[in-house]
This record gives sequence, C-alpha cells and structure tokens, in this order.
Amino acid sequence: MPFPSSATATPIQDNPDTLLRQRARRVVPGGMWGHMNVASLPEGYPQFYRSAKGCRLTDVSGREYIDFMCSFGPIILGHHDPEIDDAAIAQGRRGDTMNGPGECLVELAELLVETIPHADWATFSKNGTDATTTCVTIARAATRRRKILVARGSYHGAVPWCTPSLVGVTAEDRAHIIYYDYNDLESLTSAVEQAKGDLAAILATAYRHDVRRAQEMPTLDFLRTMRQICDDTGAALILDDVRAGFRLHLGGSWEVYGVRPDLSAWSKAIANGYPLAAVTGRDAFREAAASIYITGSFWCSAVPMAAAIATIRKLHRSDAAAKLERAGDRFRNGLQKQAARLGLSLQQTGPSQMPMLLFEDDAEFRLGGLFVAEALANGVFLHPWHNMFLSLAHSDAEIDLALEGTARALEAVARIA
Ligand code: PMP
Repeated sequence: MPFPSSATATPIQDNPDTLLRQRARRVVPGGMWGHMNVASLPEGYPQFYRSAKGCRLTDVSGREYIDFMCSFGPIILGHHDPEIDDAAIAQGRRGDTMNGPGECLVELAELLVETIPHADWATFSKNGTDATTTCVTIARAATRRRKILVARGSYHGAVPWCTPSLVGVTAEDRAHIIYYDYNDLESLTSAVEQAKGDLAAILATAYRHDVRRAQEMPTLDFLRTMRQICDDTGAALILDDVRAGFRLHLGGSWEVYGVRPDLSAWSKAIANGYPLAAVTGRDAFREAAASIYITGSFWCSAVPMAAAIATIRKLHRSDAAAKLERAGDRFRNGLQKQAARLGLSLQQTGPSQMPMLLFEDDAEFRLGGLFVAEALANGVFLHPWHNMFLSLAHSDAEIDLALEGTARALEAVARIA
C-alpha cells in the first residue's frame, strides 16, 4: 500500500491552495469563516480539497493524507462509501428538493424511532445548530418557561444564543441562558436555583469535548442528577449528540449509562457526509414539537434522507461503535509507545472513537502545533486542539501506515521538547 504522497514540488507562491486563498480573500469576507479558516492552525494546513475516498483525503495541491478529522465528524463509514453514494444517487435521480418530502422521510423517522430507545418521534433539518435550536424551542414550548442551562465552554452551534464569539451578539440574545460547569454538581444545582421556577431545559453534550482542553466523560452522578432535576421540575433534558452521535452507541451516547434524555439533537454522522440533522424526542414533548413553527427550504430534501437510511442500516450491520473503538485504540496505543520511546508525555483523553491528543505542559500548543504540522508533511491529517474522529475505513493497515508518519513527526517534536 503506497504511503500518502505528501511532498509537493510546487513553490509555495504558486501552490493551488495559496492561489485559492488569495482569490477567496477578495470575494469571501476574511477569506473563510469560522473553524474553516485555517489561520488559527499551524503552518502547512491546506484550506481547499480536491477529493476524498475511504480514510484518504487529497488537497488541491494533490497531497494525500490519512484523514483523522473525517470532515469534523460526518464521515463515519469512510469518505464516499459506495453503498451510501448509490442510495443517494438513486434517490437523486428520482427527486431531491421537491414540493415536499419524499417517502424516505417517513422511513427514516421510523428507523430512528426503532434505533434510539428514547425516541418516539423525529424531525429533520440541515445542521447541528438547527437541531440544538429546535430542541431549545420545543423545551420552551412544552414547559412555557424560559431558562436554558448550558455548560460553560460547550459548543452547540453558531447562532446568537450559543455561538462562542460575542461579536454581533447582544446580551438580550442570551438573557435566558444560565451557565454551569460540566460534571460539576454544585454549579449545576446553583444554576437550577438561579432559574427559580423558570427552568425550561438542561442542555448537555454527550461528554465534555470542548476544544483546547482534555476531554472528560460524564460522571454517572452528573447524568443522573440532571435526569432527576428534569423529572422533578418537568424541564427537558436535552442531549446534544451532534458531534458524538452514533460513534459511541447507536441508541444515543448516554445509553451505556442508562440515562435517557427527553430530546436529542443529531447531525454530523447520521448520513455519512450528506447534509442532514434530526431532533428525536419522547412522547411527552410530541405535542410541543408539533406546535412550534420550524422549516427550511432544503429541510425536506430526499437525497440526504436516503443516505441516512443507508448509513444507519450499514451501522446496524457493522458493530460500528466497537470497531471504531478498536481502531482508535490501535492508533492511540501506537502513539503512546512512540511518545514513550522518545520521552514525550502525551495526554490522550475521551473515547477512542474520538481521540484528543495534547502534549503535557503545552498550553500554547508549541509542541502540538509542530507535531501536527510534521504529521501533515508526513501524510497524516490531525488536529492540534480539536478532538479527532475515526471511521470504519480506518483499517489496521491504514492506521499502521499513519503511525509511520506520526513516528517521524514525534521525532521532530522530541528534537525541540
Ligand atoms: N453541537 C455540537 C456538539 C457540535 O459539535 C456542533 C458542530 N461542531 C454543533 C452542535 C453545530 O453543528 P453544525 O455545525 O452542523 O451547525
């Protein structure tokens, strides 16, 4: 199996990526938005891509990488899984954005209700932000209360009530958001007290996967306390499973803890890269979900729904979570051995399916930045401060090949550490 070709003979100023960035800067504000702007990443990150297949990604300069970002989560089976693409293409030939949904909408809702134990119904939209915002609106409609408890530092999307940047956001946009610290019962109960009788929902991500810090699994105490508070007050427990959904458990990321939410937000991996989001919920919230006004011009498009049906069926057949975990373990163990041999201390946190890799005492990401830049130069696409993602296309052979690249990258880190 060939090692990904990372070398490029093109001088940097004539590099297709550099040229596209120059053109983008003239016609796209800031050159690119949000986390797709690579300005905050170490040198060497491509911004534009030509193609992707399996766990390989090719940038516009023709450099190929073994991809450990999986498009920030959507790619769970591998890029362009033929089975999913065939289902999408077949639906696309029949119709995509029509005057209303295709029959696949009902089939997909049925499949989600069968797959997810807490789900009695489902609604669909496009992005994770749509799904989290819909959950918040349903919770407020059901309870006729206003306050939403959100963990400090958790990401739930990029609209005024939740975006991490306060630029262009007013205090009023967040007037009814109260913050608590993930896994911290004291701060949770004090936030509940602050909400007084006006608590509409507690919102939490599957586990603590905030950027730039070690990942943290939820404690059972934390999950059970949130459940209890919601049971006692009638508020909705909302699981934001947008990032972790289907990688840890097909029934929702808290299934292994035996704690079930009232509402869940899904997106990213549910259609293996096709644009789709979903909200699932319990019967108690069905009427409220039917009462709110939500829609979007593309929310009924049939192609992503056909892709989601094929994706979920394939995940059911594949023992996906266990396989992704094994692949992640293989990668992590390999990295750990390489680092130990060089006397480097790695901090590897969170579930193996979504590994986060930080260096000890590296708050400014000096070592992390060099490591990922060297990994890129050796054909491995990693991230210095965001959790990464495994897919079912990460075979043992691909991971071992990636580890050859990380070995060279870690040697470069050891020279400056
Ligand atoms: N919630 C979580 C936990 C996420 O990770 C994200 C996206 N990174 C979102 C919500 C928002 O999803 P989207 O970018 O599709 O709007």
